[in-house]
Amino acid sequence: MAERETLEVDVLIVGGGPAGLSAALRLAQVQKAPHEGKLGEPLSIAVIEKAPDAGRHQLSGALLDPSTLTDLIPDFASKGAPLGTPVDNDNIYFLTEQSKFRLPITPPPFQNHGNHIISLSAFTKWLAAQVEAEGIDLFWGFPGQHVLYEGDRRVVGVRTGDRGIGKDGQPKGAFEPGADIRAKVTIFADGVRGHLTKQLYRDLQIGSRSEPAQFAIGIKELWDIPKERLKPGTVIHTLGYPLREEEFGGSWLYAMGDGRISIGFVVGLEYKDPLFDPHAAFQHFKRHPFISSILEGGTLVRYGAKALPEGGWNTQPKLYVDGALIVGDAANFVNSMRLKGIHLAMRSGMLAAETAFDAIRAGDTSSKQLGFYKAAVDASAIRTELHPVRSVHQAFGAGLVAGSAAAGLAMFSKGALLPDLPGHDGHKQMRMIESYYGLAKRDFLVPSNAAPIDRKLTFDKVTGAHYSGTHHDENQPVHLLVQTDVCHSICGSEYGHPCVKFCPANVYEMVDNGAGGLRLQINASNCVHCKTCDIMDPYGVITWVAPEGGEGPSYDGM
Ligand SMILES: Cc1cc2nc3c(=O)[nH]c(=O)nc-3n(C[C@H](O)[C@H](O)[C@H](O)COP(=O)(O)OP(=O)(O)OC[C@H]3O[C@@H](n4cnc5c(N)ncnc54)[C@H](O)[C@@H]3O)c2cc1C
Repeated sequence: MAERETLEVDVLIVGGGPAGLSAALRLAQVQKAPHEGKLGEPLSIAVIEKAPDAGRHQLSGALLDPSTLTDLIPDFASKGAPLGTPVDNDNIYFLTEQSKFRLPITPPPFQNHGNHIISLSAFTKWLAAQVEAEGIDLFWGFPGQHVLYEGDRRVVGVRTGDRGIGKDGQPKGAFEPGADIRAKVTIFADGVRGHLTKQLYRDLQIGSRSEPAQFAIGIKELWDIPKERLKPGTVIHTLGYPLREEEFGGSWLYAMGDGRISIGFVVGLEYKDPLFDPHAAFQHFKRHPFISSILEGGTLVRYGAKALPEGGWNTQPKLYVDGALIVGDAANFVNSMRLKGIHLAMRSGMLAAETAFDAIRAGDTSSKQLGFYKAAVDASAIRTELHPVRSVHQAFGAGLVAGSAAAGLAMFSKGALLPDLPGHDGHKQMRMIESYYGLAKRDFLVPSNAAPIDRKLTFDKVTGAHYSGTHHDENQPVHLLVQTDVCHSICGSEYGHPCVKFCPANVYEMVDNGAGGLRLQINASNCVHCKTCDIMDPYGVITWVAPEGGEGPSYDGM
């Protein structure tokens, strides 16, 4: 049996997205600055990322607010940053089933002048190249699987996933145990609902003093449409149809140039209807006359989905513990009013890097010392942006009118008049079939908002999964840990198997059990790593863990 290797580094960064890579680059920068006239020994820094190469697991809108990039890499233009297309015009519409109403003014959160329409995947690739140029080791295809502790509170690193285990749990031919990467400081940049950060929530109670995190799911497609149809740089956002008053969300459509558009739909994961299906809502949106007239004659290029943390400032967990810091989406740093988190992820990565560097040089990586990161966040543009809108998303829980009123109040008073509203775990809003529909509802496998599929404009989830380029070896343990006894006993009658609806990639299917009933079939190989099931399952019995390194979606160009 192969021995487990141990690697010692000064700083370990888990996650090679904007937050993790900005942390790595900032570490390289700060250690070059002489202290008291001298340079210290360079730090050893490692970044581990579950994707097989840079950007492959990155999905975003994406409109980039370049404010942090300017601070991190002032000469980004001469370094060839792939900033895509500058935003040329902003449009925001309210949709009814057949019509559209253009809002006479564009509310400030939707004003994007100065921002760029980018592919986050391409941007991440470029950022990774900047990090590599500094001589930092990036380990692609290495998922962190467990947090390592010393005693029961101090984080000392991460154990990466084993390779070469069969679906029966037994080693296959080329078995390789995961390595223990031990670090003085570990920076968790594992993104939305990061499963290692989730371990910190469980083991160290880092969420005990904050409001519960709240999430949305974003479903995205890239399309090629006739070039003359939309001016490059056009930005369209919509509210309203097909969502009802009780659902939060909206759409985007960004003209990237050369006929390529990014189109997507976001739905708050606190909807009440257990049979609601976010993917079906996206299909209805594409069938709206305004949207279908843009897509007509075009072709689908790519599909994907990902959750995003939308609860805001009051949902940030404790950002520092002994030996570790949390950054980016893992810390819930997203401005849901602007649908933006890339610049906040990068900023938090930079601040965490500076704190980690100082702590290591001071020889003290206790939570007391690492707490300077929280102070830095509080003094930074992250707080300036997120605090004024801190409970707007929570207000939308009471409907579009209440949410819009809160957004207005937040804007006009710069947050001063906005009360701190309590949040709730998303799935706790989902109502049971009986209380939502009464006893009459029987056909609970069909979404309440089922949409026609024509394979031209609208596509089913299996086709979507195909267009996400997702690949997982079937002969490995299922990476969705589900207590299936719940599914088979009470979930059908209580909630109508909502996993079948909220998963955007057909991972969960109820199939005939051969005895007149249903059994859950988990098509783990379809999983696009969006994390929605881990968030939205009403019993909390689904745990997403990383599959074997390098597997998952292939989001090139997204
Ligand atoms: C649909 C959608 C639209 C959005 N639109 C915009 C927009 O227009 N503008 C904007 O600014 N923001 C937007 N955002 C938000 C933005 O994409 C995020 O805030 C940003 O990507 C967060 O960066 P991050 O590095 O914290 O996390 P991520 O970008 O998610 O990166 C985390 C990385 O960690 C890796 N990882 C996870 N777990 C492990 C593990 N255990 N081991 C190793 N690696 C791991 C992942 O593979 C991933 O590469 C959008 C998000 C979504 C979902």
